Amino acid sequence: MRIPESKIEEIRTSVNIVDIISEFVQLRKRGKNYVGLCPFHSEKTPSFTVSDEKQIFHCFGCHTGGNVFKFLTEYHKISFLEAVQELAEQQGIAIEFDKAEYSEQQSEQEVLYDINTEAAKYFLNNLLNDDEGEFARKYLQSRNIKTQTLRSFGLGYAVRGWENFINYAKSRNLNLDKCIQLGLIGKTSEGKLYDKFPGRLIFPIFSPNGRVVAFAGRVMDPNETGAKYINSPESLIYIKGRILYGLSFAKDDIRRLDKAILVEGYMDLISLYQSGIKNVVAVSGTALTDDQVQLLSRYTKNVVLLFDADTAGIKASMRSIEILLKRDMEVKIVSLPKDEDPDSFVNKYGREEFEELVKKAENFLEYETKYYESLGRFDDPSTAADAIRELVKPVALINDELKRNLLIKNIAQKFNLREKLLESELDKQLVQIKKFEKSNSRIFQSRKAEDAESIIVNPLANGSPEITPLLYNLEKEILKLLFEAEKPVAELIFNYLQPEDFTAELNRELFELVKEEFENKQEFTTSGLIGLLKDETKETFVRELTFDKYSVSSNWEERFPSITAEMTLLKFAKDTVMKFYLGRIDKRIQSNRREIELTDDESKLLELMKNNNELEREKKRIREALSG
Ligand SMILES: [Zn+2]
Repeated sequence: MRIPESKIEEIRTSVNIVDIISEFVQLRKRGKNYVGLCPFHSEKTPSFTVSDEKQIFHCFGCHTGGNVFKFLTEYHKISFLEAVQELAEQQGIAIEFDKAEYSEQQSEQEVLYDINTEAAKYFLNNLLNDDEGEFARKYLQSRNIKTQTLRSFGLGYAVRGWENFINYAKSRNLNLDKCIQLGLIGKTSEGKLYDKFPGRLIFPIFSPNGRVVAFAGRVMDPNETGAKYINSPESLIYIKGRILYGLSFAKDDIRRLDKAILVEGYMDLISLYQSGIKNVVAVSGTALTDDQVQLLSRYTKNVVLLFDADTAGIKASMRSIEILLKRDMEVKIVSLPKDEDPDSFVNKYGREEFEELVKKAENFLEYETKYYESLGRFDDPSTAADAIRELVKPVALINDELKRNLLIKNIAQKFNLREKLLESELDKQLVQIKKFEKSNSRIFQSRKAEDAESIIVNPLANGSPEITPLLYNLEKEILKLLFEAEKPVAELIFNYLQPEDFTAELNRELFELVKEEFENKQEFTTSGLIGLLKDETKETFVRELTFDKYSVSSNWEERFPSITAEMTLLKFAKDTVMKFYLGRIDKRIQSNRREIELTDDESKLLELMKNNNELEREKKRIREALSG
């Protein structure tokens, strides 16, 4: 499936990146750009920047950035093609596909999805019709799961024995290597193949748009020695920490009710769903991850945690609270009566009782306070101080200052403490978090700087000694001007400069790229140009370049407040081209002078002096042409 570049460009220019990103990130205008908290890394001070003018975004903290498609692929965890399609659909732009031209990656994924779909059908059929399936059917009956429900969730059963699925796969002509990749079939060190899930109840795991990406298998035979659950390994179509079980079923209800209930297990979710509580997702198989929270935050900001009341459940709740708060989610926690889990509770007491319980959910502060109380940590002043410190910790993760202050007030009242005391504790924690963020972004920055450095240093090592820091910086300024994609500016630059004038190889390459694009199209945009860069390091280099302040331009604006931005830019471009041009001539004059001092050859001497005179005249000519 290939979409022509021109179509992609049409779709890209049909939207404003600021509008698209605003749907997911709160942006504030700052100068020419918009800033907000980065959705791709956790931060308290905004370093995520969107340029209306250039139609690109860039984060100065984690260095993620690009055009609107890049944002959608990163944010929704979808492919480039899916991002293009999504936007096209939204804008009502029709795309004709050339189905014959499936890309490698695309077809590989499709093959994997197809195998999983075939496998799911096979397991479901076993569960409904196979004699041995009776075993699993009885189990589900005992858990009150109706046939209708097990069909909706595509539950299945893998019959015992080591070759049943293999034989089925062969009969359906499924690619066995791919079945191994997907973890449906195992391979011994002797190369013998065997079924991976025999004797297990099967839960297909779906992507948010409802495709089978993996399976979980639960043991049925209590005498079975293996793990209670086994899961498919990660694959091209399944990344554990990025999937929430049940999201494809729950997303509409989560949006409608603006609330998600988060449970631990598959059965919890299925039981709740069957009883009519449908805004539920399960973490299943992993501790809650930041990616999962990001995924969920697309549908709601309100999460109710409903974990088991045992120690493991409490620990998981505490950890989850922190991850959720970091992403600005509103967190509440439901405490179940002792010895109940969501599945058993809803089966025993029904939907209404359950909804009452959710209504009574506590905020995280009440929940954690209660927990420390139950441990007796407030009985002794020394442990109480620690416990209060622990309570302030999650508060510090909240971005909203007002909310933070209200919660601090809340703790102060509860424990009869002076607010000031808690505030200073909070400040300490905030400083710690900031420090951590800074050191993190420094690591990012220095790593990227090294990458960029390595390409920059190359031309110097390759026998181009004539580059000076001044000239190098001017080369960069000129590239920056080119990536502004302003026609008059580009015309001016191409009028005076050639690729050979650039000493740093990377700069020369980028100059050539823009020149070619400009000559071919006569019309270009910053984000279109950036889109042409296939190499990630180069792409990041250019993005940082374009978001960087001009070394002199701000000055220009102060000095000439009456002229328009474009005129300022053109003026600045003239100035920069002139400096660069003159700088290069000066280099040659200097090198001539050195030779003049060294040579004894009369005729060579004369020639060098003549050349220098010409160069001086050239300087004068350029000055006259470009200044003013
Ligand atoms: Zn970031």
